[in-house]
Amino acid sequence: MKKLIVATGNPGKLTEMQGYLADCDLQLELKPPEIEIEETGTTFLENAGLKASQVAKLTGEWAIADDSGLAVDALNGAPGLYSSRYGKTDPERIQRVLNELGDTAQRTAQFVCALAIASPGGAIAYQTEGICPGEILTTPQGEGGFGYDPIFYVREYQQTFAQMSPQLKHEISHRGRAFAALLPQLKISN
Ligand code: IMP
Repeated sequence: MKKLIVATGNPGKLTEMQGYLADCDLQLELKPPEIEIEETGTTFLENAGLKASQVAKLTGEWAIADDSGLAVDALNGAPGLYSSRYGKTDPERIQRVLNELGDTAQRTAQFVCALAIASPGGAIAYQTEGICPGEILTTPQGEGGFGYDPIFYVREYQQTFAQMSPQLKHEISHRGRAFAALLPQLKISN
């Protein structure tokens, strides 16, 4: 079984990745807390690559990192890389997006998730990106999920991410799609 360091200090993210990688013979571990990586990239892929590469180099192990966020078309891709810093709390971040959009009719948006795996020397061995298209509602709907889930509506399922079952979100979300693209690459190389 190959060890894979997850470039995060968040145990929730580790559990989530374990779910997506359950069929792979991998032992996932959180990064050591003393390693902190600044997200200085200009794209989701760059940030995921940066985190995976630095953690791999510093631990001497294989490492995986993700970077994700919400990109709203009428806001020129904002909040984008600043999704987690767009306000102090989830409700504040949601309100800021709603205020900035106002009554704009053009409400298309997408969630993006980039994944990168680096080998112990720090070279990027695999990278993928998953995108889930949707629309921004004018008021939050649903209680589940986190972050911008209550305002992100997926027309195909007529639900926001916050109204979906966790299983459906797991499958169709940007993260689900990024892992679905990554898994065949990992299996070929096993
Ligand atoms: P990170 O990839 O953990 O840095 O996530 C960045 C930010 O994007 C999060 O703090 C959320 O605000 C937002 N975000 C990423 N994925 C989701 C999601 O599935 N639902 C809602 N918000 C998300």
